[in-house]
Amino acid sequence: MRTQIVAGNWKMNCDLDDTKSLIEGLKKTTKNNATEVIIAPSFTNLSLANCLLEDSNIALSAQNMNANDSGAFTGEVSANMLKSVGVTYVILGHSERRAIFHEDAQILKEKTNQALEQNLSPIFCVGEELNVRQNNGHFNLVEEQIAESLFHLSTEEFSKLVIAYEPVWAIGTGETATPEQAQEMHAHIRKVIAKQYDDATANSISILYGGSVKPANAKEIFANPDVDGGLIGGASLKADDFTAIINSF
Ligand code: PGA
Repeated sequence: MRTQIVAGNWKMNCDLDDTKSLIEGLKKTTKNNATEVIIAPSFTNLSLANCLLEDSNIALSAQNMNANDSGAFTGEVSANMLKSVGVTYVILGHSERRAIFHEDAQILKEKTNQALEQNLSPIFCVGEELNVRQNNGHFNLVEEQIAESLFHLSTEEFSKLVIAYEPVWAIGTGETATPEQAQEMHAHIRKVIAKQYDDATANSISILYGGSVKPANAKEIFANPDVDGGLIGGASLKADDFTAIINSF
């Protein structure tokens, strides 16, 4: 059985007060859930979030990190700093990081190595832009994104990853991949992993879907055999919506 995961990517939202009330709301509603629940607030809110989550089973993720240990990297945050405030996951390769901050396959490979070395579990995002899908290049592109940044890893290292398939055209647009499109791509990802590693590794990796998941569509997306949960942006900013999504399994 794979771990079912619902992760909330708060992006650049929520100040300290918002963080406090959102977490308090979540703690009231997400008790005793079999699903692994993760939230990813911005760097400035992680420490407070860690304190507030002490008596809960909600795990903490960062949205990004630097690939280096420490040193002259003004404005950057290291894996060690994240660990010291209770972070156990880190989102890497989000399409906003790739597009706006020009993170390429090589830097994502380095960040993945660093995260694994420091015992953080990467939630590694892949996904195609609309024109790529229209030209039927989405399967190849996603395979390439995974191969270029991750296929140097050993089987043991690869098993520590969570993969998130997020079609760029569905992120924050209100447009969601159909359950069939999500299932088809998740099955493809699993096949690609099995080819590089083995069936056991492919079958043990949690693959999340992301892109305009909301309470109204979560159930039919999560019902697919190769969809193991979701990476949720907008709908993770309201405790009721996020909880409804968690309860959609
Ligand atoms: P969205 O964002 O749910 O707002 O589409 C998902 C994401 O970017 O991870």
